[in-house]
Amino acid sequence: MTHFKRVLEPLDLGFTTLKNRFVMGSMHTGLEECGDWDRLATFYEQRARAKVAMIVTGGIAPNMEGAVFPGAASMVSSLDIDHHKLVTERVKKYDTKILMQILHAGRYAYSKDSVCPSAVKSPISPFVPKELSKEGIRKQIQDIVNAAKNAQNAGYDGVEIMGSEGYLINQFIVSHTNKREDCWGGSFRNRIRFPIEVVKKVRHEVGPNFIIMFRLSMIDLIPDGSSWSEVVMLAKEIELAGATIINTGIGWHEARVPTIATLVPRAAFTWVTKKLMGEVSIPLVTSNRINNADIAEKVLENGCADLISMARPFLADPEFVSKIYTGTSKAIVPCIACNQACLDHTFSMKLTSCLVNPAACNEKQFVLSRPKLKKRIAVVGSGPAGISFSITARNRGHIVDLFEISQCLGGQLNLAKKIPGKEEFLGLVEFYENEIRRLGVGLHLDTQVKVGDLHNYDEVVIATGVKPRKLGIEAESKINLVSYLDVLTGAKEIGENVAILGAGGIGFDVAQFLVSGTKSNTLNLDEWLKEWGVDEAMSNRGGLAPDGPIFSPSEKSVTMFQRKNERLGKRLGKTTGWIHREGLRKKNVKMVSGVNYEKISAEGLTISYGQKRENFQSFEFDTIIVCAGQEPETSIYEDLKRIGVECHLIGGALAAKELDAKSAIDQGTRLAMSL
Ligand code: NAP
Ligand code: SF4
Repeated sequence: MTHFKRVLEPLDLGFTTLKNRFVMGSMHTGLEECGDWDRLATFYEQRARAKVAMIVTGGIAPNMEGAVFPGAASMVSSLDIDHHKLVTERVKKYDTKILMQILHAGRYAYSKDSVCPSAVKSPISPFVPKELSKEGIRKQIQDIVNAAKNAQNAGYDGVEIMGSEGYLINQFIVSHTNKREDCWGGSFRNRIRFPIEVVKKVRHEVGPNFIIMFRLSMIDLIPDGSSWSEVVMLAKEIELAGATIINTGIGWHEARVPTIATLVPRAAFTWVTKKLMGEVSIPLVTSNRINNADIAEKVLENGCADLISMARPFLADPEFVSKIYTGTSKAIVPCIACNQACLDHTFSMKLTSCLVNPAACNEKQFVLSRPKLKKRIAVVGSGPAGISFSITARNRGHIVDLFEISQCLGGQLNLAKKIPGKEEFLGLVEFYENEIRRLGVGLHLDTQVKVGDLHNYDEVVIATGVKPRKLGIEAESKINLVSYLDVLTGAKEIGENVAILGAGGIGFDVAQFLVSGTKSNTLNLDEWLKEWGVDEAMSNRGGLAPDGPIFSPSEKSVTMFQRKNERLGKRLGKTTGWIHREGLRKKNVKMVSGVNYEKISAEGLTISYGQKRENFQSFEFDTIIVCAGQEPETSIYEDLKRIGVECHLIGGALAAKELDAKSAIDQGTRLAMSL
């Protein structure tokens, strides 16, 4: 307990008190639009019950033109108020404050009706926004004020006014999107008139005892963003206008600097909030890539902020805060910042969940019940599918034996953790090791299971994973032909001039592994900021380094090939694919698509192009790495089937095609819920 002195300290806001320093940051989950308000209320209630001090809802639009997409949730009618009451009533049972985030998307709205201070198209939207008239501006302010008043009537303790990430308010603040020459544009003072009016008018409407948190873009990470002195000036004005708390916004959505992906170092931007500490007298919240209790404590200890905001970690583990209170912080399920089941889903218009916790946003469906019959279950294979099955089955009360042929558990996760920028996987494997031991799952490492070993179990689960797919052509000389396993396990020497055949997730991982050498900038914040062109001194507008990104050259020359005639990496994560592509481009990795592999010899690779197999080309390489996907590893399953033993097949052993940890964990958990 004493170890977490700072994060558990209450914070007096004058008219109310936050019981600790944890804020669950705003996340749009899609539940806001699913029509099942009880499901949304259950999602928030579970987090409130587990002692988070303050929750901020997903972004709620103040009007139709401000909605992120047509039909997105808004707070404009008495029906909206009634729906939101279902949420606030459930949260308030637990002395947790809940704020409704008012989000006006401006030109980020995916709609032809989007509006902006000036008609400047965003690079991430196909629509040119309409320039707001003076009357239009007054209407937007009034709509935001009305939304705040409605939120108060719905029982919220406050609102968060979204002024960062490049949304409407941010669009007013910077000259990049505000080209106006009237009293709402031109000078900085004119450009911040909009946020100041909003906060003043909201405060006037809601009275003194209502939390107004303003999310202020402290580093825009775009050219023509705010300068540091402008950020400070705005913060002071926002305090004067009546805000209770200022939250940190990092980077516009169109910024070419990753801000929350897994390769971003932990707590990478807390120094930005720290710069503002002491400039205003209201509390400051810091955020971005804080996913662990020790780091949260350290951030406060270092005087970076008064409060910690985390969003995705509350998907991974709703009980993040209560586990700190009970001294079991090591049992917090770690968010690995992969975005695979949260943001990637949001941007594909799918409901949010979580790779490491499929119960997130499915709380009503995933209720851990005691089984009618306590069973003895054997699980073969300790990759993500086998582990998640074992943990859930054991949590329900079954007796579980987990068999693993290698000396450590984790399966493919052990490959992922070796990739520079994917260190979070290391923490995930350690977490699983602890959980398996803590729960008393019988763990049998270094054990090749034989069919005879499985006779005495009530259920047998086969989660033996995958094996690398062989390339369809024979190599004339195999000396230089290796598989990704050989590379990542260090089993084979890799030359200086390398070809990678296959550009799926693993092809990209292997390329990153080869061009990074032995160091990972994710573990070195200064180097990482340099690599992505962020200037800690903030001497330039937007916090971008005057000399741009500085990448150290790769010692290896790498060329990636794929047969599909499309941009390499097109099918990687929606919100992270661009980061992988950009990272490799800067290391001069060459990418070739639409090829056929014709011949592999001691000298290198011969390819042709297109269906007609024309334009033969030969390249010299000293190593050729095959990353051509996987096939199910089912030998033990086949043996069992042959002698008529019933068993369950899950994960890569069931279907290897495009199987990733997300579906493996989901399958394992769901099967364990059903037995
Ligand atoms: P994958 O995504 O299925 O990619 C395999 C690649 O090999 C494809 O790009 C395919 O492209 C090529 N290929 C397929 N069959 C081939 C054949 N017979 N001969 C030659 N090339 C062939 O598999 P993976 O890269 O092994 O990844 C496995 C799983 O892990 C995937 O679900 C992936 O999403 C996941 N993963 C994700 C990440 C991430 O960053 N999110 C990282 C690692 C792994 P062409 O046929 O066009 O050449
Ligand atoms: Fe974190 Fe990945 Fe879960 Fe999103 S899907 S909450 S990033 S672990």
